[in-house]
Amino acid sequence: MKACVGCGTPFLPKHGNQHYHSVQCSKAEWRNKDRPRVKRPDPPLVAVNEFMRVVASSKPPEAIGYRLYCPELNIVLPIPNMGRRDGSRPVGANFSLLPLELPLLPLDTDYVLIWVYPGDSALPQAPAQYVRPGWVDDMTRRHTIGYLLKNYEQLQGRSLREIRRRRSEAANTGLTAYLRALASPRPVTEEPRSLPPREHGDSRDDESSAD
Ligand SMILES: [Zn+2]
Repeated sequence: MKACVGCGTPFLPKHGNQHYHSVQCSKAEWRNKDRPRVKRPDPPLVAVNEFMRVVASSKPPEAIGYRLYCPELNIVLPIPNMGRRDGSRPVGANFSLLPLELPLLPLDTDYVLIWVYPGDSALPQAPAQYVRPGWVDDMTRRHTIGYLLKNYEQLQGRSLREIRRRRSEAANTGLTAYLRALASPRPVTEEPRSLPPREHGDSRDDESSAD
């Protein structure tokens, strides 16, 4: 049994992420701006601890917030108005440092740390500081990120196909060379090891005696 996020009525969810006891209830709640938001579970504790350690050790003392740049998707997180782990949907584009906000992440990859300073100026360190938090959140249903993820996966799929194609092409080339060598009595490209010394001078004589 679960309590409906909208009205508190206990209900039996049909699937894991059902938060409202009825469609009417979820629609009514959707229109209510002050509704309690759905939270995402925290990442594994080991990853959280390591993330906290990396951020604490690389944070400039003046920083008041942070952002993450994802090179694969070419996007800076968080996107303004994007739902956060705690269910809030702030208009600001920073993750908080105090307390350290655990970002929702679309890919398990290296992110570039961008520090935010008073006045909302955001600057990456030079050289770039990378962090790999090591967790992934399902963000495929998020408008912008979901779109970028789909594109990224298509590109990945395409390059995987290309790699496979090149591999089988190379394998075929190796095979045909091998089969040709088997079929011919002796390798066609190689000349006999020792040529008999020329007995009739050099080849220019043949040309001059042509007419
Ligand atoms: Zn309800």
